[in-house]
Amino acid sequence: MLPSQIDSNFAPQQPHGFVKQERERIAKKVAEIDGLILNPEAFTQCEFPFPADISEPIAALQAPQTSGFRCTFPITEGVICPFVSKTEKRMQGHCKKAHNWRNPRRRGHQPKGSSQEVPWRTGVQYQRFFVQGAKSRFFEVGRGAGDPSSGEAEGTRWETLEKAIDHGMSKVDDVQQRKIKATDESKEPNPWLRRTGWARHLGRFDREELRALVRPVDPEKDPELVVVHKAFHQLIHRAQKNAVSDVVGRAALFEAHRKEEGKKPKKPFNSRMDKTTFRQYTLYWNQLLSYVVRTDDLDKEDRPRFKFTSKQQDMLDELMDAVDQVVEFQGQMLEAHVQGRVLQFCIALLDHGLADNEYQSVIISGLAVLGLQEGGRWANAEDYTPKLSAVIKLARLMVIQNAYEIRQQSIANKVGQGISQVDAEESTRSHVKLVQGMTRKFMMLTGIPRPWIGCWTPVRTDCTSGTARPPKGR
Ligand SMILES: [Zn+2]
Repeated sequence: MLPSQIDSNFAPQQPHGFVKQERERIAKKVAEIDGLILNPEAFTQCEFPFPADISEPIAALQAPQTSGFRCTFPITEGVICPFVSKTEKRMQGHCKKAHNWRNPRRRGHQPKGSSQEVPWRTGVQYQRFFVQGAKSRFFEVGRGAGDPSSGEAEGTRWETLEKAIDHGMSKVDDVQQRKIKATDESKEPNPWLRRTGWARHLGRFDREELRALVRPVDPEKDPELVVVHKAFHQLIHRAQKNAVSDVVGRAALFEAHRKEEGKKPKKPFNSRMDKTTFRQYTLYWNQLLSYVVRTDDLDKEDRPRFKFTSKQQDMLDELMDAVDQVVEFQGQMLEAHVQGRVLQFCIALLDHGLADNEYQSVIISGLAVLGLQEGGRWANAEDYTPKLSAVIKLARLMVIQNAYEIRQQSIANKVGQGISQVDAEESTRSHVKLVQGMTRKFMMLTGIPRPWIGCWTPVRTDCTSGTARPPKGR
């Protein structure tokens, strides 16, 4: 916490609930301390001195967690990368991204009972400074104090068990039978399928394995996705409250509904949904998020071809860091932080320039997987269009919410610098301008590079297998 945040941090009833007088007393005491970092910019830029990993746990923080993972890549002469994660998955992701590490352990090709050399240590004790923000991070403590072998032994046992299960599964299924035939698209009889290019994109991958990437979450196996999905629900709820004319203005709602340049939509965007619709629509987006998180653990050649922009990658890393902390420590503030990260990540996903191949976008890749039905059949246009409408509707809603948050944040910053509320509001970009900027960039059908939304819509065909129309209700 920074000195300027004393008031906002201690005011809420939970967990502190200090009255104004007490808060002022704390602020006064703190102001007497020299050498404190005063503002967020300075804080982001400074090198925060995290303790050495052999230090004793810090008593003032929450008690250390055990069974963590610690990266062992050297980053400079004699300095080991300090990255610590709660799960092996996160550590794998970190090693791939930060150190270009390749996982030698390929699914189905693992020699029995072998323990792989990996660039991390297990059974690590760790703590965390700061609930959120730039310097929020896990760090190792008490290195060498505990029994380092216990964590590893347990990990290996699990792996052996998992391998045994995997092996059994692959025998039962005739994998070959389930492979998607990469059809010659010019011969594809269904113009809808030809248009979507799904068969080509998902070609050599096993349909059931692909469908498993969007399966419902198992709280035991996917604690991270449970947090992501909950945050997404809450985000959409919150966005619905803001996406009304009383909050963002009618003009912004019209702008959010715009599909083509120079053509004003007939109706403003309507954020209302009944309970069933809400559940269904958030489900599709959550499936997309599951797809992103689950494929992130796979090697590139083990998943359909898509690419993250560097912004998307950064936002995903930040999201997953925030998620890890909720899994570990819980707490409302942490959850609120995840909501913000989910929004930023989704906006980054939407804002994806598709320069050459439309399947460089993970959203489009995920939408293709949502086109797979039980038994590995493709959804026809009739069945699929509602899903696409749902994804687009919530995308528009998130655009509005993002505009709202950008404006609020900007006004708050100015007020924090001593500018009056009225002046701050007047000098900050309006909701309608902010929405317009995003809609133009990635929510309209036309544009170069073609936004993700233009890849399938509008679809017109007279084919018997699907009387496809542009999705309604967007
Ligand atoms: Zn590292």
